[in-house]
Amino acid sequence: MKKITIAIDGYSSTGKSTVAKQLADYLDYIYVDTGAMYRAVTYFAMHHGFISENHFDKEGLLNSLDQITIGFEKAPQFETADVLLNGKNIESEIRTLEVSSFVSPIATVPEVRRKLVHQQQLLGQQKGIAMDGRDIGTVVFPNAELKIFMNASAAKRANRRYEELIERGDKVTYQKVYDNVVERDRIDTTREDSPLVMAADAIEIDNSDMNMEDQFQIILQLAKDRIAGRI
Ligand code: C5P
Repeated sequence: MKKITIAIDGYSSTGKSTVAKQLADYLDYIYVDTGAMYRAVTYFAMHHGFISENHFDKEGLLNSLDQITIGFEKAPQFETADVLLNGKNIESEIRTLEVSSFVSPIATVPEVRRKLVHQQQLLGQQKGIAMDGRDIGTVVFPNAELKIFMNASAAKRANRRYEELIERGDKVTYQKVYDNVVERDRIDTTREDSPLVMAADAIEIDNSDMNMEDQFQIILQLAKDRIAGRI
């Protein structure tokens, strides 16, 4: 069967990775979470003292960029992939609100983007890939056969993310999570390099009032149509 490239972009916490994973499982495609890659660079920057509250040593990070190697490994017991920073599994560490609060400034740096986009394009060379992020349909794979742009109300998105963090045992308030979601969207949509915008040929899905299964079925049907060359 023909293999295609599926690009899933959208605002923070819209469930992009959930649906990208579901599609990859169903179609037996590779799934790549590009947000995890930006989070891994952020984790590196935090641990080397390049970024903290009110401080960002961009030069320091740039000088260390070639010491950063990002990879993925199959998660134990799951069909998903965990992110590796220089060989170390940091999947759990990158999901904190602290990493979320520094990731968007890091993702504005063109050299960081260039490095990660290059790696993402290599991962997708063979097609048969579902990749989620902010610039997949616009920059990474402008020729992707299927582009989805996901949206939902900020309150719904913050609520979903808040529940995830509480379930992990993180001590966060709803207000802090809400503020982070809104602030990341602001930085991601206004940055100069590869801002978050909907590609002209993307299909927008607002899942504020949709359950996960319905959303998956709608997007899966779109993917099947593209694979069959129907649309
Ligand atoms: O997808 P996730 O919410 O984990 O992404 C974290 C952050 O990484 C985003 O808020 C954005 O700043 C950045 N990002 C990006 N480009 C991508 C994926 C993520 O700028 N392709």
